[in-house]
Amino acid sequence: MNTSQDSASLAGEAYLVLRERILRGELQIGKVISRRKLAGELGMSLLPVSEALMRLEFEGLLESRPRAGTRVRTPTKEDVRGHYVVREALEVEAAKLFAEKATPQEHAEMQRLAARVDALSTQTDGNRFLYLSLHEKLHRRIAECTRCQPLCDAIEKNHVLASTWLCTPKPASAGPSRGHQNLIDVLIKGDPRAAAEAMREHVAHALKNTLQRLEPYFQMGQTNGKTYARSPKRSGQPEAEPDSARDSRTANAAKNGN
Ligand SMILES: [Zn+2]
Repeated sequence: MNTSQDSASLAGEAYLVLRERILRGELQIGKVISRRKLAGELGMSLLPVSEALMRLEFEGLLESRPRAGTRVRTPTKEDVRGHYVVREALEVEAAKLFAEKATPQEHAEMQRLAARVDALSTQTDGNRFLYLSLHEKLHRRIAECTRCQPLCDAIEKNHVLASTWLCTPKPASAGPSRGHQNLIDVLIKGDPRAAAEAMREHVAHALKNTLQRLEPYFQMGQTNGKTYARSPKRSGQPEAEPDSARDSRTANAAKNGN
């Protein structure tokens, strides 16, 4: 392997490690990434780590400012609304196709999965990652049952961006939910129009919950924006986490992650 191939494979490794940490919620919104520290931790030079950060920034998971470094992207309301416009378009289409194409075995599988997701939806922190994984699986399986691979790929890609938002601590739940079981009950009836409408409502509910949950971060984004501009440090090496509104997080009574 020549040097540039080495660097590319190391960059790929750094990319996967960082992406996993972001998706698992270990690196939360607004968290500053020190490329020097990361390079030391992974036993790499700065070059592959920088390449990995650029790739994650391109995918929308990170953001960077000149002289301020790179951090996990703090979403704006426009980011969130835009994401849900795309999610609605994709998942309403998936629901219609699911109603037409899913088999009775798949119906039964989805009912079991929806029951598990609903049972876990009242969890706040402990099983949050399990809930998120199963929830992602449920929406992915709906797409897979359409037998339309490009639609599955688009839904998965769109989901990755939102995963940093969903890893934020969940406010206290209003109680047990049948949200996903109700959705699946409609989808397995085989009526594409009813399926589309049920999914549209599900996604609209998810948008409302996500906006509520991220409200402290929208404020933090404004604060951090100022912090970034005012405290230029040595090139690309911020070590301190920006002052954030993390501790003053309000617990809006959003019902469930959707
Ligand atoms: Zn959902």
